Amino acid sequence: MPIDFEIPEFIQQQQMMIRWIAENTMRPYSRQYDEQEHTRPKEFIEQMWPLLKEQQKAALKKLTETPDPDKPRRPGTGNLRLMLLAEMLSWGDAGIYLCLPSALLAGSAIEAVGTPEQKIRFLTRYAEGDEPVWGAMAMTEPGAGSDTSAIQTTAHFDEATNEWVLNGEKIFCTNGGLALEESNGVVVVWATVDRSAGRAGMKPFVVEAGTPGVTVVKQEIKHGIRASDTVAISFQNARIPADNILGSPEVQREGSTGGFRGAMATFDASRPLVAASALGVGRAALEFVKEKLAEAGIDIPYGAPYHTLTAIQRDVLDMEADLCAAYLLTLRATAMLDEKQHNSLEASMAKVKAGKVVTRVTQKAVELLGPLGYSREWLVEKWMRDGRINSIYEGTDQINTLIVARRILGYTRRELA
Ligand SMILES: Cc1cc2nc3c(=O)[nH]c(=O)nc-3n(C[C@H](O)[C@H](O)[C@H](O)COP(=O)(O)OP(=O)(O)OC[C@H]3O[C@@H](n4cnc5c(N)ncnc54)[C@H](O)[C@@H]3O)c2cc1C
Repeated sequence: MPIDFEIPEFIQQQQMMIRWIAENTMRPYSRQYDEQEHTRPKEFIEQMWPLLKEQQKAALKKLTETPDPDKPRRPGTGNLRLMLLAEMLSWGDAGIYLCLPSALLAGSAIEAVGTPEQKIRFLTRYAEGDEPVWGAMAMTEPGAGSDTSAIQTTAHFDEATNEWVLNGEKIFCTNGGLALEESNGVVVVWATVDRSAGRAGMKPFVVEAGTPGVTVVKQEIKHGIRASDTVAISFQNARIPADNILGSPEVQREGSTGGFRGAMATFDASRPLVAASALGVGRAALEFVKEKLAEAGIDIPYGAPYHTLTAIQRDVLDMEADLCAAYLLTLRATAMLDEKQHNSLEASMAKVKAGKVVTRVTQKAVELLGPLGYSREWLVEKWMRDGRINSIYEGTDQINTLIVARRILGYTRRELA
C-alpha cells in the first residue's frame, strides 16, 4: 500500500489551532487539574465543545447523503485528523485531553457496530446544544479485564415490555461520570445475553444518562491522567429500549466470536488513538529535555558519528528515534483505517510500541533532568505518571503483543493464549 508521509495542509492548519488550545487551555492548568483529581477542566472544554460539535455535525450529515456514483471515492482523512488531534492534545495534557466533550469510545463502538439509524439517534446529541456532552464505554469488570469473555454483566430481554434488563458492575470506565451524571451522554455497556456462549454471547448496549437503575458508585483515585474521570458503575435492573442493542441480538455459536467482533472493531479504531496520545506525552518530555539541555549549553549534533557523542546526546537521539518509530507505526495503522483496510495487527503493534516508548522516554527525561525532573516544580514527573496508562488500557502490552504474535504466526486464540 502506498503511504504518503506528507500531512495535508488543511490538517496542518488544524494542528496550529489545536496547538494554541493545548498551550493556552491545557498546559497552564496541568498541575491544578492533576492535583484536583476529577475536576472538570472547564477552560479546555469551553474551547473544544463548539469545535467538536461542528465536526460531529459534518460527520452525521455525510451519513445521510447519497454518494455521487460519478465522483471517484477517495480515502478519507477523518482518522488521521483524530490521530493528530490526540497527539497534540496529549502533548498539552493527556489527562485533560481525555475529558474531550465527545462520544469518544462510545462513538468508536457505535461507529463500528451501529446501524446508520442508530448512529444518527445516539450521536446527534454530540452535534447540538450549548452544553457539552460526553460518551464512554464500559467493558472491564472486577473479574474481567484482559479476558473479556469472563464478563458477568447480563442483559436479559423482557418480552412483556420489549426492553433489555441489565445487571452487573463495571469498573474503570473513562468519562462514565461525565457521560451519565454531568451531561446527557451515553455509555456503551458490554453485557452477555448468553453466558454459555462465551464471546459469541457478548453484545454492546447503549445506556443513556438518566436511565433508572444505573449508578456511578465510585471515582478512582489514580497514579496518572488524574484530570480524567474514571468511575465504577452499577447496573441494577436497568431497563433500556429493545433497539438500544448495537448490531444483531442473534447469538451465532458455530465457531463464531459474534458480538466480540464488534469489540475488536472498536479497538482497531481506538488503539491508534491511544498510541497517538502516548506519542504526544513522549514528545512533550523530549522537547522539554532538549530545551533544558540547550539552556545548559548542550546541543544535539544531528549527523555526527555516534562514537563522538556524549552519553546524554546518545540518550536524546535514542529517545527521538524511538518516538519516530512509534509515530510511523501509528501513522500506518491510522492510514489503513482511513483506507478501510483491516488493521488489527498494525493497531496492536502501534499501541504496544508507543506504550513502551512513552514509558522509556519520560523515565529517561526525569533521569536526565536530575532532581528537578523528579520535583513537582516541572511537569516532567507528571508526564512520567501520565504516560504509564498507555501500556494498560485498550489492552495491556502483553495482550497486544499476543495479538501481534497470533496474527504474524497465524495462530488462533486457542493455540496461543
Ligand atoms: C485509568 C484507566 C482507565 C480505563 N478506562 C477504561 C474504559 O473506559 N473502559 C473499560 O472497559 N476499561 C477501562 N480500563 C480498564 C483497562 O482496559 C483494564 O485495566 C485492562 O484491560 C487490563 O485488565 P485488568 O485490569 O483486569 O488486568 P488483568 O487482565 O487482570 O491483567 C493483569 C496483568 O496480567 C497480564 N495478563 C493478563 N492476561 C494475560 C495473558 N493471557 N498473557 C500474558 N499476560 C496476561 C496483563 O497484561 C497485566 O499485566 C481502564 C483502566 C484504567 C487504569
